[in-house]
Amino acid sequence: MSRIRVAIQKSGRLSDKSLALLQGCGLQFARSKDKLFWYGQDFPVDLLLVRDDDIPRMLLDGVCELGIVGQNVAREVMLERNGGDGLDELRPLRFGGCRLSLAVPEDSGATSAKDLDGARIATSYPALTRHLLEQQGVNASIVELAGSVEIAPGLGTAEAIADLVSTGTTLRANHLRELEVIYRSTAALFSGASPLPDDKQALLDRLLMRLDGVLHAAESKYVMLHAPRDAVEAITELLPGAEQPTLLRLEGNRDKVALHAVCRETLFWEHLEALKAAGASAILVMPVEKMLA
Ligand code: ATP
Ligand code: ZN
Repeated sequence: MSRIRVAIQKSGRLSDKSLALLQGCGLQFARSKDKLFWYGQDFPVDLLLVRDDDIPRMLLDGVCELGIVGQNVAREVMLERNGGDGLDELRPLRFGGCRLSLAVPEDSGATSAKDLDGARIATSYPALTRHLLEQQGVNASIVELAGSVEIAPGLGTAEAIADLVSTGTTLRANHLRELEVIYRSTAALFSGASPLPDDKQALLDRLLMRLDGVLHAAESKYVMLHAPRDAVEAITELLPGAEQPTLLRLEGNRDKVALHAVCRETLFWEHLEALKAAGASAILVMPVEKMLA
């Protein structure tokens, strides 16, 4: 029977969430001694644990069928190897969010990317940075660094940097100022662009169906509340992304009913306050673990 391989980051920002997501799809793995290859036990999907930068190349080379990696890394490798193609983004994921930003020393006079024309820019994403700057008509010379990009201006090897930022703390600690966001990235599930044989495609479809169930469940909530009979309609309209609710009789109370509904969008405190104002009471919000339409 055929199997498919998924490459995820071995240790880093994406590792835990990538693994948790696959486990949420019901995959369980027998961990090998060297810890680089994990055999899928109940479902024929195996894991490869590698450096994130290797994942796009492994997909392009057909070493694995699927990979979870930052869009930034995927774009970088595609630009460098294939002029921008070669991988299919199957699903964006809700983790690993960050931005690729241009930053300059605090005392620099630059106010936008345009001011970096002719400057040296240090980055670990040379192809992506060059591509994005070219789109803006900025001609810069790229200084490729594998890490610690933020110290380049201080060392005098570049006038600016293009680096991944999530909070900006690292920039501030190095007396850098964020000039402009040039790219936004999240982790995503990718496949190689070449078609899979039917049996593997069938397996992939099953996995994607489970994955969609997990992704939808993550934003969905099961809501239970008591509603005055005459406010049921108004209350239902206040529930974000809810379809037909279930109404249940409340023992010993003719004026109110219990209303249960699945909300497919994020439920904020403001929603709960509005429900209460519309007459709802005993409001309970519960997480949804799995969903299959
Ligand atoms: P590896 O050893 O696997 O090469 P790494 O050091 O290159 O790891 P991490 O720092 O773990 O990689 O980042 C992996 C990915 O996480 C990045 O490519 C990016 O998509 C995402 N990410 C999210 N927030 C940040 C951030 N603040 N800085 C860097 N990457 C971030
Ligand atoms: Zn890396």
